[in-house]
Amino acid sequence: MGLVTSVDEFREARRAWAAQGVRVSLVPTMGYLHEGHLRLIDAAKERSDVVVVSVFVNPLQFGPEEDYDQYPRDLERDRRLAVERGAAVIFAPDADVMYPAGSEIRVVPGTTAERWEGLARPGHFVGVLTVVAKLFHMTNPHVACFGQKDYQQLALIRQMVRDLNWSIEVVGVPTVREPDGLAMSSRNVYLSAAERREALSLSGALSEAHAAWRAGESSASTLEVIVRQRVEVCPSVALEYIAVVDPDRLEPVDRVDHRSVIAVAARVGPTRLIDNIILRDGLSGAT
Ligand code: AMP
Repeated sequence: MGLVTSVDEFREARRAWAAQGVRVSLVPTMGYLHEGHLRLIDAAKERSDVVVVSVFVNPLQFGPEEDYDQYPRDLERDRRLAVERGAAVIFAPDADVMYPAGSEIRVVPGTTAERWEGLARPGHFVGVLTVVAKLFHMTNPHVACFGQKDYQQLALIRQMVRDLNWSIEVVGVPTVREPDGLAMSSRNVYLSAAERREALSLSGALSEAHAAWRAGESSASTLEVIVRQRVEVCPSVALEYIAVVDPDRLEPVDRVDHRSVIAVAARVGPTRLIDNIILRDGLSGAT
């Protein structure tokens, strides 16, 4: 089928799949696909017969000072990469299809959205949950795959599906990294060569904290100091937060265990990057 931009056209295909008893998965993205997105397609393929990749740069999840206008876009390349990787359909509605004039109902997240990314980006998770809810209703998937790279987002989507009683299997896929450890992100294209080198301090710091935990350190504040010291030597990197938290509600913990997560956000020059590590898994996804 390839590229579909109309909801009605998509629904027609969806009805035909339903009649055939086909299992459908959804991989929601904002496009400019990289290997991280493509691994979500792999995970979706393992769990379904038909993979739908949505490509939609969601204006509702960007703040007024954020990079909505500059966000990289290349729909033709996305279509090609997704189809080559095995996606059946790229669903790419326009903003006025997603939010027709007068559309004002929103999904309001709970306290899990109040810290970390939610605090740094007011309204961000209202935008994310609203668009994901709409995509779920438009595409009606059995399975939906999300990256652990956006850890808080994944936790909130799991919560939304549970709290609103949807029978969708939410799959979290480990973060895919460049060979040197940098978490893949569509925003990495913004980085200069010097900034990219300093951006490595984020994954490097998480890896050091993980090594300290493996060596017996369980104090959250000590692990936070390890991360901070590693990042603060880089002049282009301004840390926004270091979260040492439980994996479900992302509440700070005093002592970590194997399920704890360390998440960081920083500006590297003008570019905002996030990364995290689940202690049990280590720096997952490193290629
Ligand atoms: P985005 O296009 O940045 O909104 O991301 C779309 C989906 O891809 C989200 O579920 C992200 O968590 C996931 N994703 C982005 N980067 C990575 C990565 N490096 N590894 C795994 N998943 C990722």
